[in-house]
Amino acid sequence: MSAGAVRTVAGDVPAGELGVCDAHDHLFFGSPQLPGQELRSLSTARAELVAFAELGGGTVVQWTPYGLGRRAADLPPLSRETGVRIVAATGLHQAVHYDDATLAGLRGRLAEVFVAELTEGIGTSGVRAGLIKVAGGFHTLDAHARWTMSAAAEAHHATGAPIAVHLELGTGALDVLDLLCGELGVPPQRVILGHLNRSPDFTVHRQAAASGCYLAFDGPSRANHATDWRMPDAVQALAEAGHGDRLLLGGDTTTAAARSVNGGPGMPYLLRRIRPRLVVELGEELVGRILVDNPGRALAVEWRRP
Ligand SMILES: [Zn+2]
Repeated sequence: MSAGAVRTVAGDVPAGELGVCDAHDHLFFGSPQLPGQELRSLSTARAELVAFAELGGGTVVQWTPYGLGRRAADLPPLSRETGVRIVAATGLHQAVHYDDATLAGLRGRLAEVFVAELTEGIGTSGVRAGLIKVAGGFHTLDAHARWTMSAAAEAHHATGAPIAVHLELGTGALDVLDLLCGELGVPPQRVILGHLNRSPDFTVHRQAAASGCYLAFDGPSRANHATDWRMPDAVQALAEAGHGDRLLLGGDTTTAAARSVNGGPGMPYLLRRIRPRLVVELGEELVGRILVDNPGRALAVEWRRP
């Protein structure tokens, strides 16, 4: 089996070309849940990418899904100007992030929308998504989560695209795997579980990892400070259990205040502080593989539609 290709906003590239990867972040994002904190500024997004690139960053994966201000048309020029590869997402977040009319308009055609965004482009931008982002609920999967994950699985089967999952406060990992991989037949190695650091139950982490899925740790964030500091131990425990090749790291900047240019940790923090912190525990070699090789493997797909 060949390694496939990662679908970036500038086209499909071999996995080996991603370089150091921030596997879960946001250049643009806006939700009624975070009023006044929208990531809308082009110049700020550019500054974050430049700061990330200056520390050796090569690729940023934006997990912003449908309808939350992705600014798809702005992504290729940003990538060109900064030299950072960008992967965009399709998918749908939890229902609270949308108005009723938006959700009603997607009934009966959600998988179709995902497939179109993966193969033809987001809106009229012509910019194709490289992954499908969906979300679970707090320790459970509600009807909305089951709907979006069923559509994501359908779109996966049609295209090969990976599915990235927002776990609400890091919970529900095993329910998500039961649904996506058990009921809906998505291969575990095409599933990325996000926010695991927000629920540092190392046993559940190991149980999830045993499926063969990818495990994404992200942050830091002010809202999740209570568990952020467990991240190095959680990552170390998974590496010691033999899952080092399934780990991913990201910054997950979701608010304007979290941007480095606004005085927050922002996108460069992953390389400025997280990387050296993890090197203490895991060594240079493994941390290098987590930042470079694992994202390539997680995102590279034998696309079933060009
Ligand atoms: Zn995110």
